Amino acid sequence: MELKKNQEILLTIEDFTREGEGLGKYQGFPLFVKDTVIGDKAKVSITKLKKNYGYARLVEILEPSPDRVTPPCPVARQCGGCKIQQLSYEKQKQFKWNQVANCLKRIGGFEEIEAKMEPVYGMEHPWHYRNKAQYPVGLDKSGNIVAGFYAGRTHTIVPNTDCLIQAEVNKDILEIILEYLRNNHIRPYDEKSHTGLVRHVLTRVGFVTGEIMVCLVLNGKKEQLKNSAALVKQLTVIPGMTSIVINTNKEKTNRILGASCETLWGRDYIEDYIGDVRYQIGPLSFFQVNPRQTKVLYSKALEYADLKGEEIVWDLYCGIGTISLFLAQKARQVYGVEIIKEAIDDARRNAALNQMDNVTFYVGKAEEIVPAQYQHTGIHPDVIVVDPPRKGCDEALLHTMTAMEPSRIVYVSCDPGTLARDCRILCEEGYEIEKVAVVDQFGHSCHVETVVLLSQLKPDDKI
Ligand code: SAH
Repeated sequence: MELKKNQEILLTIEDFTREGEGLGKYQGFPLFVKDTVIGDKAKVSITKLKKNYGYARLVEILEPSPDRVTPPCPVARQCGGCKIQQLSYEKQKQFKWNQVANCLKRIGGFEEIEAKMEPVYGMEHPWHYRNKAQYPVGLDKSGNIVAGFYAGRTHTIVPNTDCLIQAEVNKDILEIILEYLRNNHIRPYDEKSHTGLVRHVLTRVGFVTGEIMVCLVLNGKKEQLKNSAALVKQLTVIPGMTSIVINTNKEKTNRILGASCETLWGRDYIEDYIGDVRYQIGPLSFFQVNPRQTKVLYSKALEYADLKGEEIVWDLYCGIGTISLFLAQKARQVYGVEIIKEAIDDARRNAALNQMDNVTFYVGKAEEIVPAQYQHTGIHPDVIVVDPPRKGCDEALLHTMTAMEPSRIVYVSCDPGTLARDCRILCEEGYEIEKVAVVDQFGHSCHVETVVLLSQLKPDDKI
């Protein structure tokens, strides 16, 4: 078999990768094809060949898979945001559930795990679910000012003011800002020459409160935004507008936000709720981006923690304390640990805002704080909750956790692979998986969130 770059071939898609690419075999040779789904028969064009596999581009669907839908977003293919809009939402949920099951089996060695897995918790309406958006601003080929999202793996802006997974009000906000920039001849930032003023537009929307924040990221200071009163006048017509902020980022960097913010109009922050807990959210705050599904996720964590009111609970990798405060509603005492100091500042402020005095936060590495505290106090917590980044928990921390012998460990994870690896370690040290819940927080992307309940084996369960 001789395949060449740009050669067009017919391919049947047989599998789907974790990144949401279709996989088909041409005379046994595996080819990855973006924008396809299992069951598609398609004409594809070879883009890249490696020794044992290659990549191809979808040219034409010849026979669509029964699972295929027409992506409602007209720029779904170009945009680097959504990866699997072409797959029906029912199948997306199944794909995520299967992915968790496969990882727990293959990496974790949990053979019969399906029996412990709840049906996937998907979104009722998988559109307009994000409360935070960051739109790059730039010029198109004809020199018009545009805002949108980057195409996959590049910094080419795909113009789009009407993203289907963002809050609907963003369209009005962006149209106002683009018109203002045109009318006032304000140049967008150009990465190559490091000139121009406006880099990004960040929006945040409180889904419960309706409060809106608009943050313009400038390669300069607030004063450089000429005639800004006109912009404020237009934006404040939008119902719910609460905060208009300028963020300054003069660095040559891929990071969107700089360190300093100045408020142009209104408050410095917006407020929102997850369940009954109230949070203040500034331009730089980390806050879960799908608040409705976050409530589902945290409620599951709380259910698995099974608190009666007398428990001592650790919440490790706690961020701004969202889970800690959720748990504190039902526990005697919660301890949160997080490595980023600013996040803990937010966590403490939010605890005070909610009049919760049974939460204590520590800044530092979980794998250092927890062993030190355990050694110092000797206290056995009833429940430990962890919600680590994608790389999972530090192994030393897992050993400390099992040495502390909580009755339950609730593992919240954004990466099924490291989740499976860590659960295996916990289960080698006296715990067993009782329940698994998969929650879809990011429809049309390949991200998947999982909550696992592990409980301590009773002495006579142990071998
Ligand atoms: N539980 C939070 C955030 C989880 S994201 C929420 O639901 O909102 C994971 C968090 O772990 C991040 O905030 C990250 O800063 C933090 N982190 C990363 N490494 C860490 C470590 N070694 N010790 C403690 N926190 C860490």
